[in-house]
Amino acid sequence: MSDMNQKWIDLRSDTVTQPSEAMRAAMAGASVGDDVYADDPSVNNLQEYAAELFGFEAGMFAPSGTQTNLIALMTHCGRGDEYLVGQEAHTYKYEGGGAAVLGSIQPQPIINQADGSILLSDIEAYIKPDDMHFARTRLLALENTIGGRVLPQAYVKAATDLAHSKGLATHLDGARIANAAVKNGVSLREAVQGFDTVSVCLSKGLGAPVGSVLLGPKAFIEQGKRWRKMLGGGMRQAGVLAAAAQYALENNVQRLAEDHDNAAALAQGLSQIAALNVGTPQTNIFWLDIPAAACEPLRQALARARIRASIGPRTRLVTHLDVSAADVARTVEVFTAFFADWRGE
Ligand SMILES: *Cc1c(COP(=O)(O)O)cnc(C)c1O
Repeated sequence: MSDMNQKWIDLRSDTVTQPSEAMRAAMAGASVGDDVYADDPSVNNLQEYAAELFGFEAGMFAPSGTQTNLIALMTHCGRGDEYLVGQEAHTYKYEGGGAAVLGSIQPQPIINQADGSILLSDIEAYIKPDDMHFARTRLLALENTIGGRVLPQAYVKAATDLAHSKGLATHLDGARIANAAVKNGVSLREAVQGFDTVSVCLSKGLGAPVGSVLLGPKAFIEQGKRWRKMLGGGMRQAGVLAAAAQYALENNVQRLAEDHDNAAALAQGLSQIAALNVGTPQTNIFWLDIPAAACEPLRQALARARIRASIGPRTRLVTHLDVSAADVARTVEVFTAFFADWRGE
């Protein structure tokens, strides 16, 4: 029977994290002003802090990563330009086609390899010649981590070097770049080397309730602020949010290693169940195959045990700062008990 006082374990995404008491205290104490007038000291501090931390001239705080990515694409590319992007990338697949709809920018999607990379030979082959028949290829956009996979540092260098040598700019959707940096044991600055601009989510594993920062050259960020205003992202006393984001960057980067360890332990536990085909996590996100007929009863068993997960034939599980090692053990127990009884009907 389920215990109604037991906490929910939520493995759907690292966006579900609750702001901690200390983060809430930082928010409550934040000095604020009208950020459209650039008057909010907490937003200004965050932007400067994040720019310094990642090694860029300037930063811009915005309500979401979808918006910081779109602002970057619209600042790098104009009407009739195109950007090269992975077929599986968030900016191509999960942002409603915003670059095309709102930016008149043509995406050139390219197949992602099993490790999440795009082949250098594909990047080169998809750059269009200067010819009136073609859109102008302006930008290479990569994503790291991508589906929980970390791009190798040497690959990132080779891909961004290639793009620059062909006259393209480079943008990183670094929604989870801190996970990549922690996994690779490199600094945040090293992790973003080679990119002209980077979008970083504060509201994923870093644990802030809202917000992303876009980082880049000062002139680029100033230009981007026009698009942010046009897209409805000009916020007023946003310092309460920026204070949470600042707290996240100051306190929650290195602890991502715990999420990676918890994902590894969860995958290891589930891999003992014969009916499942479980991938090997590199960071806090991994995938497993579940027999289709088991999905609905498993969903119900998990709900009774107060576990939320996006169960399907191809399931993504995500660990984060509100999932403990004990939660992992409890989840493995519930899965194990379910499949011990399941007869494959
Ligand atoms: C979450 C995410 C974003 C931005 O999402 P928002 O929900 O708009 O903040 C961008 N890229 C990737 C890879 C993401 O996971």
